[in-house]
Amino acid sequence: MNMMDEKLEEITPSKEYVLKVIDRCDSCNSQAYVLVKLVTGELMFCGHHYNKNEKSIAKFAYEIIDERDKLIENKLIGSSN
Ligand SMILES: [Zn+2]
Repeated sequence: MNMMDEKLEEITPSKEYVLKVIDRCDSCNSQAYVLVKLVTGELMFCGHHYNKNEKSIAKFAYEIIDERDKLIENKLIGSSN
């Protein structure tokens, strides 16, 4: 019965994030969770605006760094109290 251990491993962040708390969404100035790399530069989006523009972003982005799992982690931490 190692179910508890597995769950903890999923929640514990193991990768390094590129986006920081000071990085802001280009549309609304909220904290950015998705970094979109374009040929001409970079765009940053909050979870809301990335969701809203996901299909068009996919057309012109050559790399998308999606760190929305930070949002999920925050929610898990918040709801465990
Ligand atoms: Zn936004």
